[in-house]
Amino acid sequence: RFATLEPQPKDPIFALVDLYQKDENPNKINISVGAYRDENGKPYVLPVVKKAKQILLNDPNANHEYNPMTGVDSFCHNAAKVILGKDSPAIAEERVATIQTVAGTGALKIACEFLKQTKNTPIYISNPTWANHKAIIENTDLEWKEYSYWNQENRNLNIEGLLEDLNNAPDNSTILLHACAHNPTGTDPTREQWKRICEVIKKKNHFTFFDCAYQGFASGDLDNDAWAIRYFIEQGLELIVCQSFSKNMGLYSERAGYIHIVIKPSENASVIAKNVRSHLGGITRAILSNAPNFAVRVVDIILSDPELYKEWNENMKVMSGRIQKMRKMARDKFVELKTPGTWDHIQQQIGMFSYTGLTVKQVECLIEKFSIYMTKNGRMSVAGLNEKNVEYFVKSVDWVVRN
Ligand code: PMP
Repeated sequence: RFATLEPQPKDPIFALVDLYQKDENPNKINISVGAYRDENGKPYVLPVVKKAKQILLNDPNANHEYNPMTGVDSFCHNAAKVILGKDSPAIAEERVATIQTVAGTGALKIACEFLKQTKNTPIYISNPTWANHKAIIENTDLEWKEYSYWNQENRNLNIEGLLEDLNNAPDNSTILLHACAHNPTGTDPTREQWKRICEVIKKKNHFTFFDCAYQGFASGDLDNDAWAIRYFIEQGLELIVCQSFSKNMGLYSERAGYIHIVIKPSENASVIAKNVRSHLGGITRAILSNAPNFAVRVVDIILSDPELYKEWNENMKVMSGRIQKMRKMARDKFVELKTPGTWDHIQQQIGMFSYTGLTVKQVECLIEKFSIYMTKNGRMSVAGLNEKNVEYFVKSVDWVVRN
């Protein structure tokens, strides 16, 4: 019955991790996967997460009962405050529909299903974007189209191209935007540019679909990284936000996330929000019954306790600070070696990734000759660098660029 199936191509990132693990070169570096590493190249369990897990273990009332399809109401409320702001008028006016999801990817999938049921128009994604955006949209039988994002020559945002493409998209299109720390380019619009994007979206009556996987990673400040989302809401727009705690709490495999759908202000906005939430619950029921609960309980313990919340922010600053330090060290070493080309963008870009500008051929050479594993598009996960390997990395890139 299944004899005609061909093997699926391996996911490019997980395939690189496989190769990296088999590589015996003691100098090997993995800068492919978007997961934080500490200064010894090891996975990092946030100290605040360790504390919260202990609290959960000691809770005599904790059990493993099923949750409602939409998740635990108080958890949803606390997660909304992190991303929309604790004084968000949208929350106060009860016009936010929030549900628990299987991390950011699960949120995107449920959001796409919801859009298919309610809107069914193409989703505009940035060129380039996180590869899974296309896969999730296609898997939902929706269509994607691209808007310009990256200026390869200047290694910065192609804002005019972006605005033009949003202007040329049919009215009422859905526009998927990375709320901060754009993956893979590490390049976000400035506040002025966000305002211009918002203006076009408003004028064209587009619908905004924010993917927020890196809140706290871009600048180390949760409020700062959620600025664009809050600004769009202030402007009276309706939108979806997919929120992930994978990166900012280091809970990658535990799958903690939420969808928030913000309804624009009106007399019956809170009724609409309730109905939207029940639809999201219905979609969840048919796909996975209900979202996993362990990680969001850990998240909620942290969000509910002012001391732990503060400590979480400090832990996040440790992560984003080390990444920023590595960016500067790498950039300074390129300058020191007089590596052909400009390298300021490595330091200027933000979040987990840097879009180096290296070509496919150069990346292949880095993998084969130097055991430095990164994706073919020249994206590196800066968290994979540390004080012990940054020199080897820069010298290898220097060799590749010159040869
Ligand atoms: N969106 C973007 C842009 C991402 O980079 C990622 C993770 N790589 C996600 C969403 C989803 O993350 P998760 O499902 O692990 O929360």
